[in-house]
This record gives sequence, structure tokens and C-alpha cells, in this order.
Amino acid sequence: MEQFRLASRDTHPADTVVQVGQVKLGGKHRAFIAGPCSVESREQVMEIAQAIQGSAQILRGGAYKPRTSPYSFQGLGEEGLRFLQAAGQAVGMPVVAEVVSPEEVDLVSDYVDMLQIGARNMQNYALLKKVGSQDKPVLLKRGFAATIEELLLSAEYIMVSGNHQVVLCERGIRTFNDYTRNTLDLSAVPVLQQLSHLPVIVDPSHGTGQWNLVEPLAKGAMAVGAHGLIIEVHHHPEEALSDGPQSLKPEKYRALVHKLNRLVACLEGDGE
Ligand code: PEP
Ligand code: MN
Repeated sequence: MEQFRLASRDTHPADTVVQVGQVKLGGKHRAFIAGPCSVESREQVMEIAQAIQGSAQILRGGAYKPRTSPYSFQGLGEEGLRFLQAAGQAVGMPVVAEVVSPEEVDLVSDYVDMLQIGARNMQNYALLKKVGSQDKPVLLKRGFAATIEELLLSAEYIMVSGNHQVVLCERGIRTFNDYTRNTLDLSAVPVLQQLSHLPVIVDPSHGTGQWNLVEPLAKGAMAVGAHGLIIEVHHHPEEALSDGPQSLKPEKYRALVHKLNRLVACLEGDGE
């Protein structure tokens, strides 16, 4: 395991617990992250934050969006970060947002409790080094064509730069199956947990691309031992400026979390 020494369980057998605001993730600590794909307005993110308060522990919302098409909504930028921060403070939840370039890391970390590195940037080494040299925890998403080893080596880039607060995220990879947006690799969860001490969460929203597949894959993720989930939620998915088809309405999200909590209790032997 010379390759990813700092991320490896060989050199660090105990589970790492990452702290985001007051929320702990890793080891025995599980946490749910939820919110809109993109921050669209002050009202939109505030409404969603209030609707998921109590069901999610961390609020998500993108302000710098890495969109496949240059004609798609690119995010509100710093204004979006302000709206996200205000919503998080209003409901008492720490917030996470994506950062897409090294130049914006300091600005984004002024507003958020956790920095997200998206799938498209998993191997943007200048960005990894930059987030590794600041002190906010990092949510590192697996690239859609990245192997497990490549994901762990990207975590290593962040850690070797000084920041050991890294959460890994399986969000689906590209395969010959084109029925779902990506193929969610749930086997990555126990494999990563065997190889590494870092917390592992799952994104069933990008993993499937379809809101009605989020529930079964979320259940599967918790059953295979994920430390948490990141799920997209929107009040009016049909009007969302990004990722509406995979977004859950708040009431569906709350009902799902209720079932997931019961599932986890059963798995831990505390259920009926
Ligand atoms: C997102 O979380 O909205 C996102 C763009 O995710 P990914 O980088 O996994 O595609
Ligand atoms: Mn999205």
C-alpha cells in the first residue's frame, strides 16, 4: 500500500471520523447530506433547508456548477454561496458546496463548512493540492471513469498536502448500461472500507439519474455499510435549473429517511 499510504488502513487501522460543523461522519457516525443540486435563489434554498431540517444533518447546494453544456445554468457563484450559508445558519445545519477551480477555493471556504470536489475534477491535481492546504473537510466524489485505486490516490493528494479530513463518495461510474445515468457501484463501499480508514458515502441521485430509483439504491447503500448519503431534493423538480429528474420532493425525502433509520437500526440489531 505504498501507493496510498496516508489513506490506507494498513498505516491507520482505526476509522477516521470527519467533523463537519458539529456533525460527525465515519466510524459509528452516519450522516445524511441533502439539498438542491444548484442554489437557484435565496427563497429556494431556504425553503428546501427548512423542509429537510431534522431529516438531513448537512445542507448541500451548488453555486459553481460543472455543466456538460456551456449553455446550461452555471450556478449563481458567490451570491449562491451567500444564500446557502444563510439557509444553513437559519436551520442550524453545516453546508457543503462544490469548488471547481483552485483560484476559488479560498472564496468558497469562506462560506461553507465542507468543500466538494466533483466527479469531473477528481483528478484535477492542482485543485486537490489546494483543498489539501486549507482546513475545511473535503467531500471527494469518485470520477465516473475512475478506479478505486485512482480515487484513493486522489484522496492521498489531499492528505499529503496536510488535510486528513476527507470523505469519499461513490456516485456511479460509466458502463455499457445506458438505462440509468450512471451505474452505481455499491461494491465500492465495502472495498473502500477494507482498503481505507476514510468515511465512505453514496450519492444515489447522480448514481441513477431518476428520482424513483433513489430510494432502492439509498437502502442498498446503507445495507452495504455506507456512512451516509448525499441526496438531491427540490420543491419543484420539474422547474429545477439542474438535475430535476433525479431530485426528490421534500416529503418523499423525509419519508425515505424515516425508512432508512429503521433499516439501519435493524442492521445494527436494534430493530424489531
Ligand atoms: C453534484 O453533486 O451536483 C454533482 C455535479 O455531482 P458529480 O460531481 O458527482 O457529478
Ligand atoms: Mn447535481
